[in-house]
Amino acid sequence: MRQIYPSTFAVRMDAYSVFVAWALAVACVILWALVVFLKLPFGCLLGFAGKAFLGAAAVHVALAFTHKCPVCGKRPTVQGFKPPHPDSQTQSKFTGWAGVVVSVVRRSEFTCIHCGTNFFLKNGRT
Ligand SMILES: [Zn+2]
Repeated sequence: MRQIYPSTFAVRMDAYSVFVAWALAVACVILWALVVFLKLPFGCLLGFAGKAFLGAAAVHVALAFTHKCPVCGKRPTVQGFKPPHPDSQTQSKFTGWAGVVVSVVRRSEFTCIHCGTNFFLKNGRT
């Protein structure tokens, strides 16, 4: 069954913060390689990208705890140690909480990794 997710704004911002963190992590690796192997003077940029990555990750952690699945009461982007619900495995090429993030950004819908309920996101800020 497909339901409207009540915390549309929070889950969207949560997912976008993860994408920003992933992009900054890739940038850090590239900048690190340029600094170490090619001796390019990008140390300052590397420091900025590293701090920005930590900031985006902190935003994700903070936002992940601001919304809950209305069916099971658990947080869809916080996985823990239990394997994700089997119905959530096919929502993306990623599994678990990363699958929720990719599905929210790409399709404005996701399947809860704890109970398997399918949600879609309304447009607008709710
Ligand atoms: Zn749930």
